[in-house]
Amino acid sequence: MTSPAYDDNNIFAKILKGEIPSYRVYEDEHTIAFMDVMPQSPGHTLVMPKSPSRNIFDADPAALQHAITVVQKIAVAVQEAFDADGVYIAQFNEPSAGQTVFHLHFHVIPRLEGVALKPHSGKMEDGAVLAENAKKIIDALNG
Ligand code: 5GP
Repeated sequence: MTSPAYDDNNIFAKILKGEIPSYRVYEDEHTIAFMDVMPQSPGHTLVMPKSPSRNIFDADPAALQHAITVVQKIAVAVQEAFDADGVYIAQFNEPSAGQTVFHLHFHVIPRLEGVALKPHSGKMEDGAVLAENAKKIIDALNG
């Protein structure tokens, strides 16, 4: 099966262009990281390359290489910020694999022993909570 083409108007492209607000925790020349609005656990963060690709199939290998180093940076920060026992990293490609937004991104999700994850794309979190959680991650990144 051939994947559909990248759509410039997907919701994460709009976040990148600043047309839609987001709670950003990290940005560099090639990548941004921001809070997932429907977190599966407190601190659920998304890391995405700025270069347009729908998912792993059409991604630029250099963008992928850089993005995974940012995933590591964010994983370390969320582990510290949320005193996590573990961190779950996920990345979905095409709807059959669970992808719902078609700009490549990685989920970085803190896990606590014995605490179940909330559903993927479940309930919208309160903005004040997302802002507070973003601050914790920024503080850990700057710590
Ligand atoms: P996917 O299923 O494509 O891997 O994940 C997309 C993620 O984006 C989901 O976890 C969902 O909660 C999150 N999401 C959907 N719309 C928005 C949005 O407008 N802003 C942010 N920050 N996250 C979103």
